[in-house]
Amino acid sequence: MAKIYTEKDANFDIIKNKKIAILGYGSQGRAWALNLRDSGLNVTVGLEREGNSWNQAKKDGFNPVHTEEAVKNADIVIFLVPDMVQRYVYREKVQPYLKDGMDLVFAHGFNIHYKLIEPPNNVDVYMIAPKGPGPTVREYFVHGGGVPALVAVQQNYSGKAMEKALAIAKGIGATRPGVIETTFKEETETDLIGEQTDLVGGITELMRTAFNTLVEMGYQPEVAYFETINEMKMIVDIIHDKGFYGMLKAVSDTAKYGGITVGKYVINEDVKKRVREAAEKVRSGKFAEEWIEEYNRGSPIVKQAMEEVQNSLEEKIGNELRDMIERGKPKS
Ligand code: NAD
Ligand code: MG
Ligand code: MG
Ligand code: MG
Ligand code: MG
Repeated sequence: MAKIYTEKDANFDIIKNKKIAILGYGSQGRAWALNLRDSGLNVTVGLEREGNSWNQAKKDGFNPVHTEEAVKNADIVIFLVPDMVQRYVYREKVQPYLKDGMDLVFAHGFNIHYKLIEPPNNVDVYMIAPKGPGPTVREYFVHGGGVPALVAVQQNYSGKAMEKALAIAKGIGATRPGVIETTFKEETETDLIGEQTDLVGGITELMRTAFNTLVEMGYQPEVAYFETINEMKMIVDIIHDKGFYGMLKAVSDTAKYGGITVGKYVINEDVKKRVREAAEKVRSGKFAEEWIEEYNRGSPIVKQAMEEVQNSLEEKIGNELRDMIERGKPKS
């Protein structure tokens, strides 16, 4: 069973006199900077240049400085710039200023696991990976809660890396619900496999396939949209709150029987084989290689696919129906 840590396992003492540099002020960066500051910790925001993130940080009462400035003065450096950018920031703005006993902290294991960043032995390397988007990390914290996170230690030069990881997890609110211990390998691979085969890839393509099949069969796209796409949230909400068994108990007997029998026919052993293939491609590092190459070419595949999605019928219908759906939502 997974090892879970909560508030009682975490203590600020070990980091309260340390200077923390947060690199990046986007989704996670902003949330971490605000939460750690509210937790009484010493935070500096380090950024590349004076753009949107810089202005936002100033508006939030920080005094952002250039990346190398923040790193030079820091004991703990937290990488919250995009994953594909981290190795360049490391090579140009962090590595030259590394000090014995410094901490390099990540919110996702990609760069360390795939060895795009190879820190020297005399630093600690650990991770706190929130299981939710930055704005939620902030919002839950403000209301006394927190988003659960994964924590992992890759390099433990000081012998205290896990204690520091837990202190930072506490500072962003994650130990309030609890954090789960993992490894960089497990976090990185499961994150990629999950988003590809299930969350961002599998589920959305299933929704789009079901929608387009109904439309091709002559059903009205508006009706198809409600059934195959919009209702997904309601089913997922029930699974989220009550589990699969609870969801099956909540739907009609007809939906239960049809779902149980046809679900396994559509998502069959063949699909499982492909999920496994995709997972192996993540494990072998082939996916990371492919993605880095795509990114370095300027992401042509991503750009083309984004355009295709934007111009798709399901997107147009969704945009049209969203007003109507919004009108029906509870007003408070
Ligand atoms: P983001 O894209 O929201 O923010 C990136 C920040 O980096 C911005 O301040 C941006 O100005 C800055 N930046 C962009 N390009 C840069 C460059 N070339 N050089 C320097 N700075 C640059 O990023 P994010 O989604 O917060 O992701 C940060 C880390 O958190 C990643 O490792 C990601 O995997 C991890 N993470 C994100 C989420 C999430 O929901 N967004 C969840 C868990 C973990
Ligand atoms: Mg993820
Ligand atoms: Mg991810
Ligand atoms: Mg229905
Ligand atoms: Mg029904």
